[in-house]
Amino acid sequence: MKQIRHYIGGATTSGLSDRSGPVYDPATGQQTGTVSYASAGDVDAAVTSAATAFASWRQVSLSRRSEILFAMRDLVRSHSRQLAELITAENGKTIADAEGEVLRGLENLEFACGIPDHLKGEHSQQVSRGVDVHSARYPLGVVAGITPFNFPAMVPMWMFSNAIACGNCFVLKPSEKTPSASMLLAQLWHEAGLPDGVFNVVHGDRVAVDRLLAHPQVAAVSFVGSTPVARHVYTTAAGHGKRVQALGGAKNHMIVLPDADLDMAADAAVSAGYGAAGERCMAVSVVTAVGDVADPLVEAIAVRIGKVKVGAGTDPDAEMGPLVTREHRDKVAAYLDSAAADGAVVVADGRHLVTPDGGFFLGPCLVDHVRPGMKIYTDEVFGPVLSVTRVPSYRDAIAMVNDNPYGNGAAIFTRDGGAARDFEDQVQVGMVGINVPIPVPVAFYSFGGWKDSLFGDLHMYGPDGVRFYTRAKVMTTRWPDPSTSAVDLGFPRTR
Ligand code: NAD
Repeated sequence: MKQIRHYIGGATTSGLSDRSGPVYDPATGQQTGTVSYASAGDVDAAVTSAATAFASWRQVSLSRRSEILFAMRDLVRSHSRQLAELITAENGKTIADAEGEVLRGLENLEFACGIPDHLKGEHSQQVSRGVDVHSARYPLGVVAGITPFNFPAMVPMWMFSNAIACGNCFVLKPSEKTPSASMLLAQLWHEAGLPDGVFNVVHGDRVAVDRLLAHPQVAAVSFVGSTPVARHVYTTAAGHGKRVQALGGAKNHMIVLPDADLDMAADAAVSAGYGAAGERCMAVSVVTAVGDVADPLVEAIAVRIGKVKVGAGTDPDAEMGPLVTREHRDKVAAYLDSAAADGAVVVADGRHLVTPDGGFFLGPCLVDHVRPGMKIYTDEVFGPVLSVTRVPSYRDAIAMVNDNPYGNGAAIFTRDGGAARDFEDQVQVGMVGINVPIPVPVAFYSFGGWKDSLFGDLHMYGPDGVRFYTRAKVMTTRWPDPSTSAVDLGFPRTR
């Protein structure tokens, strides 16, 4: 059985605690490993290692930092298959999907390779007679990242690429359900030439998280996970005076107008609803059908569902793998019963699909006639379940999206430029897709939702990431008249 330990100061360690947890292969349901759970003392050791490394890392030249980032980028690229296999083994998503995750994460390392440019300050000359002003950005010190199970490589890369490039030292607390990818990333950082202590990994649960949130030497916390935990992280860490960005859960709507390309919309709903078994924070969870598009759209989605190949993530033919744990699969499946009891119509029940024995599988599910107020609508389901809500008009559709407490992403499918433009302007979410179901921004923009999908102000990665991991200093300078210098600079002497 695999043992997954912490990575502190450039070495793996079991730490001081004897607590640990199981790691499963979701495709077989078998336990494949055990991961150490950090105690507060283990977290303290990681933070001390990071704080010690910070004294010299912040002084490393921008060109050397960039060189290490380029090396890391190349190493992640050449190990993308290995990373993908680790992700699939613990998360369950298909290998192709896991490789896609690594490539999206890699974009963030590529962005951070340009750190000499991103950290450029500003300069204003002669703001007053003989007075100049310039600004610079400084690293914060030790920063922590707490990440979810669904993107074990990409979400850490969202955070640590910019954090380390900006001159900070990083302590990662990955999900205890999917801990192995972070250990390979640690090894790759070492091979890339990153000094020991700049990147550390502590595994575990709330004990580790709560120590990071309270530790006096942790300057900032980046979090991605569910909304209740995001709220806890935000309030606790902010209460300890830390800078926090805490990204929470989602309920992403895809509005389909009657003029939409029906095939395009149905394909998008299926890939964005069932890809990665719906365990994506940008997955489409609700399809909001406007007017008479509803019947043909539901039918087109149902036809496509029949063709989705569900199987182990390692099966090259599989398009959708299992869910992450048995408990989560059972929780997701229970929404089908509550929806039926609430008066919705279950068009496809994934529990009836024949899947490999033992794994945490649930086939694609489609539930029609869902209405706000039903449990399947109010909760974040986070599984392969598409709900269809039917509304008479575009105005009703946008009101429904805006009344929802989550505000991560939303998409509209239409051929009408005026509707698309109005949607962009009116919709209260952080990321908008026009005929694009999963509008995750590229790495040179920033990622983040509104409302209960984000606590804090700055979004993650891209330009906001650089701002989050640095603090500004503004210098106002005046020099004595050169003609009064003690050194003869060749000016006529005024005195
Ligand atoms: P989670 O909130 O259960 O766990 C996230 C992290 O918090 C893990 O490292 C976990 O160990 C830790 N944690 C869990 N419970 C805790 C507690 N009580 N106190 C302190 N720490 C705790 O989330 P998850 O199940 O791993 O991931 C799925 C969730 O993440 C979904 O809600 C999904 O929408 C969200 N997510 C959001 C985004 C985004 O960008 N907004 C991206 C990916 C995932």
